[in-house]
Amino acid sequence: MEERKKAALAKSVERKENELIGWLTELVRIPTFVPPGENYGKIVDWLFPVFEGFGFQCERIEMPEDVYAAKQKNDELIGERSNLLATKDTGAAESVVIYTHLDVVPAGEGWSAPPFETVIEDDRVYGRGVADSKGSVASLLAALSVMHEQNWASKYNLTVALTTDEEIGPYSGLCYFADAGLLRGDYCLCMDGDNEGIAIATNGVLNWEIKVQGKSCHSSIPFMGINAIESAKIVMHELESLKKTVERRESKAPCSPHMTDISGQEHIKPVFNVTMINAGVKENIIPPSCTLRGDRRYIPEEDVETVLKEFEAAIEAIKTKHGIDLELFCKPGYPPMFTEQDNEWVIKVQDAASDAFGVAKTLTGVQGGLDVAYAVQKTKQPVCAFGVGSFMDSNAHGADENVRIQDLKDYVRFLVGLLT
Ligand SMILES: [Zn+2]
Repeated sequence: MEERKKAALAKSVERKENELIGWLTELVRIPTFVPPGENYGKIVDWLFPVFEGFGFQCERIEMPEDVYAAKQKNDELIGERSNLLATKDTGAAESVVIYTHLDVVPAGEGWSAPPFETVIEDDRVYGRGVADSKGSVASLLAALSVMHEQNWASKYNLTVALTTDEEIGPYSGLCYFADAGLLRGDYCLCMDGDNEGIAIATNGVLNWEIKVQGKSCHSSIPFMGINAIESAKIVMHELESLKKTVERRESKAPCSPHMTDISGQEHIKPVFNVTMINAGVKENIIPPSCTLRGDRRYIPEEDVETVLKEFEAAIEAIKTKHGIDLELFCKPGYPPMFTEQDNEWVIKVQDAASDAFGVAKTLTGVQGGLDVAYAVQKTKQPVCAFGVGSFMDSNAHGADENVRIQDLKDYVRFLVGLLT
């Protein structure tokens, strides 16, 4: 960016600080936590005229009832799944999809102040969702406002998708947008994520359940039954070798420097966890069944079919070796995501981010999954995930979630730099 424009941008963003924080406060005040996610209509209605003011065509899009019932609905969820699609045709040759989610996780305990009223302290804004990811939305509004005032046209046609239920899944508003063909564009910027690095790779997710069958009887004569907990112990022991095999693999996608510091890992890896166990009726009853649950996260280089086959083969081997009656159920979640490091969009995002934040932002992979991975699997867009919060300090999903005001402003400059 040329120096004169840079100076004008910096000045303009400083002038916007109060307005930016005001927008963030309004967004936090609409409690879109999920479950139940009952206030999506309210937040979309609030955003609608603001985007119209910046010359966007807006549509409030509800997930159709039949799609919702089949793919997303559960007893914890209440109300319509209202999403915002805001588009602006600038007559440019290329288009960008800008996405993040409007839902937040519930407040939880341990807050120093009411979580849905923002508090400003130590140059930070505190409140549920300020980092994940309403801060990105407020910064986007500020960026569009700066561009509007300065008469800086976007180099791209813009499609802004602000959607529901990312925090709960499995079929978020964004997944619906992807299936409905609403995410037209050449590139995708995902504003969900942190600002430590630019995520270009994520793991895919597969949730699994193993049901170990036993036979109940009086616990004083255990030889008359089959203790499902004892069988499950053997199963867990055997699964250790699958875990070792799986976790020896690694992706070519690098970890963030922070993650390398903590884990010693240079690249993202697959993960195999047992995370839940459920069994038993009473102290004096031999347990008739035991259910193990967990997740298997697979790197972009693995494919879900092979992952499933490998898991099934391991289960068959345990059955044969130990004669245990067990069954495996797998439920695939979000697929993996991968954009090449030398993709031109990646380079543009990296340059704009490094420039705005004044530090070199590295390209990273993350071991978690994102709903945007589902979307770009359909749209085939190169995608970068880069958000406003700090991985180390923001405590996203925790008490006293916060975002640095400086990061909000840097993020505005990042967006303006990228788009103009
Ligand atoms: Zn998020």
